[in-house]
Amino acid sequence: MYDIIIVGGGPAGLTAALYALRAGKTALIIEKNAFGGQITWSPKVENFPTIESISGTELADRLMEQTMNQGAEMELDEVTAIELDGDVKRVKTEFGGEFEAKAVIIATGARPRMLGIEREAELVGSGVCFCAVCDGAFYKGCPVAVNGGGNSALQDAMLLSDTCSRVYLVHRRDSFRGEAKLVEALREKENVEFVLNSSITALHGETELTGITVTDKMGNERKIAVDGLFVAIGHAPDNGIFAELIDLDAGGYADSGEDCMTKTSGVFVAGDCRKKSVRQLTTAAADGSAAALAACSYIDSL
Ligand code: NAP
Repeated sequence: MYDIIIVGGGPAGLTAALYALRAGKTALIIEKNAFGGQITWSPKVENFPTIESISGTELADRLMEQTMNQGAEMELDEVTAIELDGDVKRVKTEFGGEFEAKAVIIATGARPRMLGIEREAELVGSGVCFCAVCDGAFYKGCPVAVNGGGNSALQDAMLLSDTCSRVYLVHRRDSFRGEAKLVEALREKENVEFVLNSSITALHGETELTGITVTDKMGNERKIAVDGLFVAIGHAPDNGIFAELIDLDAGGYADSGEDCMTKTSGVFVAGDCRKKSVRQLTTAAADGSAAALAACSYIDSL
């Protein structure tokens, strides 16, 4: 039996493992996609203390190596259930894995939000994308659109402007939520066009995306030819399967105190899946450490 099983291998989960292992506990991290989580999609991280500039993938690689060097065990699999058997937590996975632990930390992050317009789902992978770092190279020399006004959209637009012929940055307001410095840098780019006060209302193309229709606040429509659309309108949590163990708010985020404890003894939450006001790399790491230390205290009290 493990001391702690951590569900999710993003910055919150990996930091939790680091703290747990350094406190002398055993830890298994189960990740369904890629260790590093959402941060691997960031071309550049320039707001993590002590690191001036680093790519998201390098940061994730470094954190993973650091965690493995402390003795973390890792499984690439999807957790499908957490069952309680007295104080024992039994974690089941899609590929038939069954693991036991004294404590569990849920650090499942959040998945990209979709626009919810017609044909979006069927064009995913055929022009509709959610990750410029992963898919941007497919659109080299082509016109693309990015939708959103947060740091993800701004960073995506910046990255794509280096290789794409034109980047339309579509945002539903006239000002951006993301960093002013990034907005200024994008304004300087000749091949970036801001399409403000506008929403994407239609997607065109039979089997591959060929264009989008944007509609502004006055109801004026404009058709723009693009080969790629990068949707960067935030994320939503995926906590549904844990609903019996933890309280979820209306948006599906897990309720907990600052100590990351949930209503179930020995079950903790950390990172973007948790209800909180600031979702940043720094706060994910902070959550990971808080949850791990709370889990260690819980185990010591058994
Ligand atoms: P975000 O900050 O929540 O921004 C989402 C954007 O999408 C907002 O501008 C929002 O518009 C827009 N939006 C939401 N729903 C929409 C819809 N249905 N249709 C059209 N537009 C919609 O999300 P994010 O950019 O993914 O960033 C998430 C967090 O990670 C943020 O705290 C961000 O600062 C952080 N982050 C950090 C880095 C880094 O370098 N460290 C990189 C990326 C992200 P409104 O403004 O109108 O609400």
